[in-house]
This record gives sequence, structure tokens and C-alpha cells, in this order.
Amino acid sequence: MTTYNLASLLEDSAAKFPERTAIVFGDTRLSYPAVNAVANQVANLLVASGVEPGDKVALMCPNLPYFTIIYFGILKAGAVAVPLNVLLKGREVAYHLEDSDAKVLFAFEGTPDLAIGVEANAGVLATPSCEHLFVITADPAGPSPIEGRTTFGHAVGSQPMTFDTVATDEDDTAVILYTSGTTGRPKGAELRHRNVRDNTRLGTPLFGANADTPDTYLCVLPLFHTFGQTVIQNGAFLYGGTVVMLPRFDAQQALALMLREKVTFFGGVPTMYWGLLGALDGSVDVEALRSNLRVAVAGGAALPVEVHREVAKRLGVTILEGYGLSETSPVASFSTLGTEPKVGSIGVPVPGVEMTLIEPGSWEQVEWTDDAIGEIAIKGHNIMKGYYKRPEATEEAISPDGWFRTGDLGKRDAEGWYYIVDRAKDMIIRGGFNVYPRELEEVLLTHPAISLAAVIGVPHESHGEEVKAHVILKPGASATAEEIIAWSKDQMAAYKYPRIVAIVDSLPMTATGKILKRELS
Ligand code: AMP
Repeated sequence: MTTYNLASLLEDSAAKFPERTAIVFGDTRLSYPAVNAVANQVANLLVASGVEPGDKVALMCPNLPYFTIIYFGILKAGAVAVPLNVLLKGREVAYHLEDSDAKVLFAFEGTPDLAIGVEANAGVLATPSCEHLFVITADPAGPSPIEGRTTFGHAVGSQPMTFDTVATDEDDTAVILYTSGTTGRPKGAELRHRNVRDNTRLGTPLFGANADTPDTYLCVLPLFHTFGQTVIQNGAFLYGGTVVMLPRFDAQQALALMLREKVTFFGGVPTMYWGLLGALDGSVDVEALRSNLRVAVAGGAALPVEVHREVAKRLGVTILEGYGLSETSPVASFSTLGTEPKVGSIGVPVPGVEMTLIEPGSWEQVEWTDDAIGEIAIKGHNIMKGYYKRPEATEEAISPDGWFRTGDLGKRDAEGWYYIVDRAKDMIIRGGFNVYPRELEEVLLTHPAISLAAVIGVPHESHGEEVKAHVILKPGASATAEEIIAWSKDQMAAYKYPRIVAIVDSLPMTATGKILKRELS
């Protein structure tokens, strides 16, 4: 047994860098020792509430200092953190609590409409196995806005600020992250302490991060999602960096915070980069932004080539694109600082991780050629233990020799750089031809009037599926659907250009900022 608890990310920095700021939120600045002390109170509260090592504790909280404090408090108690999407409705909360066997839920009230608290409460009421709900209130000393519930502030207030962290095995589960995987209902990806530790330790140096010149991170990727949790929060804590929290992406607010806090490290999904571009008008001090920003990382979905180039040019920053999944802790591949990134590529496998291309539906490796397309499979320190309580789904996803199938289709060039072609389930089959929406989206973005595009397949009598594009136009630009179709016909092969175009004002997004294609029709 090798003892390791992920909470040491916080504890080590609290010991080594007692003067450093761990978290900034609004006007609040919390030092590492302050965060550690309240996390100890959380651990004491959990023990007092009957939580034992290995028990599951859920957390439904936007990007606020509470998220990080509670996350590490849960780990200190030797329990398993189960972060939940803050947009879940009561019935969905109940599903996640029951599925994960969570005994306790910490939920933010959801000011001003109490939406998170109300849904969390409904979820707990429907789940007898979840014994406690602690409501996190914007005013920690205030009363509970949810009737009959104890507030987080009152519950932790009386707890001691010291705690002896439970010695867990590095193979014990640290977090369960809910994801749909490639199919079906949300499943809990069980990540071990060492999965997250190694992914943080081996990934961070690729971005040039170090303990002597700690970075200041804008933390707008939701912390309940693996990208924000490992790459931003845990990456920052590994080196005593500062996490500047923003609960919801708003490009103007993000830029203002980046300037105010002299942010050096930005991490975002493509729609955030797209949002930043739209907000970079004459009123923003771009020079100041450029001089502070050291590196930007992108992932979670494909960063369109046009957006990549434009942001890199206007902010004068290298954007490193990476790739991974909740099941892979998450980082599997990245481009590395100091190496000229290949725009459009997701980089090369990170140290300790192997990637290959397999035939979808089998574990057979695809014979490599420059343009051979296969399903990306990943092996290494970052692969989850499995899907919680789902041995069959785990067996389908992980081969006996440790390869994890991703459901993403990709290619590899002669130098070993990988390219995402598309998600297997997003592939459109039109009249027997495979059409990859991502390729079409990249082409549509080169149209002078188009700002964002999402391509889907819609049912069609004779072709099986027809290709449809939803597009957002650039401010002040004009184009009709007919013009865009005619233009596309000139740009793309006859079997794939979109025959249907809808011009829309917005596209549905997940809480992480990925375009929610399944809601398009
Ligand atoms: P999640 O588990 O929510 O992190 O989602 C993982 C999925 O995000 C992957 O299976 C990919 O489909 C997608 N993804 C992540 N990074 C990238 C990227 N750089 N390019 C394209 N798709 C990506």
C-alpha cells in the first residue's frame, strides 16, 4: 500500500507558501493556510456527521471559494468527492445522489433565485440514503433560505480548524465525476488519488508552470468539471498559484478580472475563446492583457482553427490545445510550451500516457497512414478505475490490458501529433458517406459573415440523414441561408455540403460551454 491523499496538494502549499493567496473571489482574498483551516473544519464536520473513509459526499457549487474548500475537506476526511453540475434539476440531483450513494450533499443556495438550493433540497428529499444537506449561503452568517436545513456557515463555524488527514491508499477513489461517456445515462467515472495526482504533476510542466514564479489562473471553467478541477484548481495548488474565480462566463467580466488580477494563465473551452474575441473591442487594454498573459490552454471541444489563430494574434499568446475526458483525469494529449503548436491538433500524448487508433467496436489497431481515421484509445496513469457500480460499462470501455476507448474519431500525422476528426456519435452518414461535422464547421467559419457554426444530421427519407448547419452571423454582417448554401456548395464535396442552413442568434451550451448538439434539430 502506498499512502497518498490528494488533499496534500493544498496541505503542502499551505506549509510551503503560507503568505501566498490561494483564491480570489470578488474582494475576498484567501491565503493557503486560511483555505486549509476551513477545509479542516469541513473534514471535522463530516466526521461529526458520521461520514467514514470511502463514503461519498456530493457537492453542488459554482466557482466560489466554497467549492475548493469543501472538495479538499472531503478528501481530508478520506471520503470521495462527487461534484455535481449546478444546473441539475431535483429529479436529476436525486439520480446522482442515489447512483453515487452520497451520504451528504453540500449545495450553494443559488442566489438570487435560490435555484440550486431548491433543486438540491428536492433531490435530497427524494433520496433517503442522503442523510444531510448543508446549504452554502452567500452570507455565511445568515439564516437558511431553505426551510429546515442547516447552513454551511453554521455547521462548520463551531468545528476545530485542525484535522489529521485520513491516510488513504493512492489507489483509493478520490473523486467520482459524472459523465455520459460515449453512451447512455450519466455514469460516475471513479478517479483514484494517484490518477489525479499524476495527471496534475505530469501535465502542469508542459504549460511551463513552476513553484518559483507561480501563475495567476482565471478560473471560469466550472470546477465541477474535470478540466477546471484538475488543470486549473489542482494545477494551481500544486505550485502555490492563485485561482481567480468567476462563477459564470461573461467575456467582459472575464477580461476585466484578467486585467485587475494580472492573470497569467487562461484556460477555456472554445466558446469562451470565441466570446473573448467578440469582447476585445477598443475599450479593452489589450496591451496590458498581453503583457500579463503567459499561456492559454484550450480543450473540452475542438478549437476552430480560425478562432485559435485570431485569439493568438490579438492576445499575443501561445494557445496550447489539449484533449482528454472525465475518464482520463482528464489530460491525455497536449501541445507543449516551447514547441510550435500545430493549429488544429490536440498535440501529442503527455508523459506517462499512450494513445493509438483502433477500429470502432473492436480493440484492433488501425493500420497507420497519414489519413487513416480510427477511434482514439488511451492507456496510462490517467485512466479511471472504472464507472462506479457499472462493471459491464467499465468492461466495454477498458480493455483487459488497460486501453480506454474514447468514442472520439481521430488521425495521427507522421510526427505523432493527433487530430480530432469528430466524436463517433456526431458523425453523420448521408447517403452512405461519412460526414464529419467538425470539418464542415471549420469551413463555414471561413465564410466572412459567419461567427459560429454547429453542424448536425437530421433524418432524411432517402439519404438516411441530411446535413444541417446552425450558424450565428458576425455582428453587423448579413447573409441568407440560401447564400450560405450556395457558397458551401462551392467549397465542399457534393455529398457533404449543408443543404439546410438555419441562421440563429444563439446556440444551446452545456454548463461547461460546449455546444449541446443533441438539443439542435
Ligand atoms: P468530458 O468528459 O466532459 O470532458 O468530455 C470529453 C469529450 O470532450 C471528449 O470525448 C471529446 O469528444 C471532447 N473533447 C475534449 N477535448 C477536445 C478537443 N481538444 N478537441 C475536440 N474534442 C475534445
